[in-house]
Amino acid sequence: MDPEEPGLLLPGAAPFVWPIFMSIPPTPLSTWARNVSPSPTLAVDAKAKALQAAGEDVCGFAAGEPDFDTPDHIKEACIVALRAGKTKYAPTPGIEPLRVAIAERYFTDYQHKVAASQVVVSPGGKFSCYLGVLATCSPGDEVIVPAPFWVSYPEMVKLAGAVPKLVLADDRTGFKLTPALLESAITPRTKLVILNSPSNPTGAVYTRAELEALVAVAVKHNLYILSDEMYEHLVYDGATPTCVATLSQEAEARTMIVAGFSKTYAMTGWRIGTLVAPSPIAKAVAELQSQISSNVTTFAQYGALAALKEKEKTAAALKTMLAAFDRRRKYLHAELNKIPGLKCLLAEGAFYLFPNISSFGLKDLEFCNRLLDTERVAAVPGSAFGAEGYLRLSYATSDEIIAKGVERLARFCRSLR
Ligand SMILES: *Cc1c(COP(=O)(O)O)cnc(C)c1O
Repeated sequence: MDPEEPGLLLPGAAPFVWPIFMSIPPTPLSTWARNVSPSPTLAVDAKAKALQAAGEDVCGFAAGEPDFDTPDHIKEACIVALRAGKTKYAPTPGIEPLRVAIAERYFTDYQHKVAASQVVVSPGGKFSCYLGVLATCSPGDEVIVPAPFWVSYPEMVKLAGAVPKLVLADDRTGFKLTPALLESAITPRTKLVILNSPSNPTGAVYTRAELEALVAVAVKHNLYILSDEMYEHLVYDGATPTCVATLSQEAEARTMIVAGFSKTYAMTGWRIGTLVAPSPIAKAVAELQSQISSNVTTFAQYGALAALKEKEKTAAALKTMLAAFDRRRKYLHAELNKIPGLKCLLAEGAFYLFPNISSFGLKDLEFCNRLLDTERVAAVPGSAFGAEGYLRLSYATSDEIIAKGVERLARFCRSLR
């Protein structure tokens, strides 16, 4: 029973008061429950949304999802499946035609040959990542997480009983881990390294050669690799995404590729992610999933199938979204660099910029709180991603909000100098 649930009130009844003794657990909650940190990006977004709901004019740069709606042909395929009674349990790793289509698209996109049996469809790329960690790491194992990192990586490593080892790669290396940095973080307990290109939060895209050099270190130390390629299709300026498993046979043998539908096709609420790995790992991931969540919502998988099968419609929708993202990216980057004291690299991927605000003499958390309080601009502090002194600005929002928001940010920065 939820104490805040208003539906519990009978008309005219006195408000239900939750007994105080029931808000204190009779015995401590688990170490998992006590050690997990709530998502800080969601917290800023929630505060901004609360202000907005109260009628305030907030410019939100905090959201981590496309501002577009899911393309119609994808929705239609899901509705058709629902009407056709695709409402029962499906095989845990995904409906067969979807696994086949995912395997095929890796060949089309990267000439990477995979069997449908190596594909596991999970409730969101986030869950795919977590299952990948669970399948490869035991309690006490160490996992290298390059910072700035996507907020969930350290938490999911901890929830597997493993230990996150954070390695900072700041704007001096373009937010990219170098082989020397990676090497310096490896110990005999290291089991896995997480790579994420294009990156959330920085938008950095590694080149093929850069990834080859990192993979060589992972091979030398016999590490698994979790390559989070969630933003593979959101790249600009002619940058090309690299599928880490295609770099060599040794890379393929140790790499779990995570990708999905959320960011590329504006399908965040559908909860569909994909993991592709060598058979023994894929099998382990599917078995873990069978006991934790079972299959992704059956009719939703038919929408994902349409995204892959109706190629022309999907490509057209993606092209429109990419053009908007690219226009906003260039505009926001140019405006940010006009602000005295602020420095911002031009990221080649995802939908984020990650400007350096360290010259203003404020901790980034205080910077963001004051920015929201005084100018009604929502941004996420870099420290949420393990990199103090930066902001993450998402440009997955309208051109008008970006223009207005960056003007307010400029005024705020002037007030600090
Ligand atoms: C959004 C995101 C994901 C997962 O997305 P889902 O909504 O769970 O499919 C995974 N990795 C990164 C880096 C992301 O930004």
